Amino acid sequence: MKDKLNTEQREYVLYHLSRHFNLPAFSSFFLFEKNDTRAPFVFFPSSNKPHNENRRIEDIPVLYPLASEDRFFHFDSNNNLIFDHDLLKGAFYLLSGYQEWQTGERDARGRFPFTASIHYRLNIAEMPLVNIYFDIISRALELFAKKHGLVFQKKSFWGNHPFALFLTHDIDRVDRWISAEVKRRIKIAQKHRGLRQKLSAIFHELNFFGRNNSFWNFDRMMAVEDALNIKSTWFFLPGGIKHIDAYYDLKEERIKKLARKIADNGHHIGAHGVYNSMTDPAEMRRTLREVRQLSPADVIISRQHWLRFRYPDTLKLLAENRIEMDSSWGFAEHCGWRNSYCHPFHPFDLNQNRMLPILEIPLNAMDVTFMEYMGLDEKGTREHIMKMVHVCKKYGGIFTLLWHNNHLNEEDHPGVWDFYKTILDDIIRENPYIFTPGAMKGLPL
Ligand SMILES: [Zn+2]
Repeated sequence: MKDKLNTEQREYVLYHLSRHFNLPAFSSFFLFEKNDTRAPFVFFPSSNKPHNENRRIEDIPVLYPLASEDRFFHFDSNNNLIFDHDLLKGAFYLLSGYQEWQTGERDARGRFPFTASIHYRLNIAEMPLVNIYFDIISRALELFAKKHGLVFQKKSFWGNHPFALFLTHDIDRVDRWISAEVKRRIKIAQKHRGLRQKLSAIFHELNFFGRNNSFWNFDRMMAVEDALNIKSTWFFLPGGIKHIDAYYDLKEERIKKLARKIADNGHHIGAHGVYNSMTDPAEMRRTLREVRQLSPADVIISRQHWLRFRYPDTLKLLAENRIEMDSSWGFAEHCGWRNSYCHPFHPFDLNQNRMLPILEIPLNAMDVTFMEYMGLDEKGTREHIMKMVHVCKKYGGIFTLLWHNNHLNEEDHPGVWDFYKTILDDIIRENPYIFTPGAMKGLPL
């Protein structure tokens, strides 16, 4: 991104900054061009250069540096506040998703790959740089306020809680044993030599069917949450492409009963956008129609299956279908914040140069990310999770955790229930506000 921020882009960043403190009390002092003569002033210099990946100050990457001094701001002899680098443009570049808008790079699933991101190159996935820039600006303005007898007031997002927890479940599968799995197991068994060995192997594989269906674990999941006073959000997936979209049907009586139970227990139901809903309006409409038929309450939040998201096309499809919130923006391959901001935020439509009304609740932690993509064991997973919880606490952010019901099965992951409970215990001990999309009144979002 080479050009200086235009007015709408700058306003977009200031809008999000203003949610952290009483910014209007300061905006009359803001200067964006040096030819203004007001005094006192707060000067935000503008960069017209592409971003720089080599400059760090106190280990914080400075994407749009403008001075050689290793500091973020200073005061002149008249106590005017002068920022040394273009922090607003850095915040815009990351928050707006500019990097994925300008590139055509996609993985086999049509997603923007983590390895193509600045987060990968600078190792900043778990470092919410937009929050860090906002924090620097806030601290500077607090000092400016002291010097000029103004009142600086920090805002809180979550009442008396230092951060929020948004616990979510994508219901991709509800049956451990499906015909494809049966065929696969029989095939494996047939590799054995000799009829007797073959039959015994097939019997051994099929014997698993006698056991309980470990993917139908919803009562147990809700009991765990009840014990910790957590209300969560469950994303239901319609059928569609074979072996890619849901293996179950939203019209099944057991699924209808399940949805009612989830809603009756005070949890929230969201839509899980089928594979092709990323860019296909008919598929998006179908997803939302089917999930709305299932849910007792209106469906206002969505997450894309396999996190397949095309920016800004998918957002538009969601908005056209009365969806108020999305929670798909995270990297499948790595935990952390894809837009470098650990708060709910409004996406920016770079094609039309405007902020969009839909609210994005960033997804920073998904079960398969830790265990499969990052190859972490339980200890490593717990460390990453608690590190991010502490980051959220520091910046008053929201911690979004996705745990699939089908990954809570002891056959594939011995000990996973205990591990899952330990993680929730750890997070709850830090006193989060429990976020659900249905109860947002009073929150400054
Ligand atoms: Zn899914």
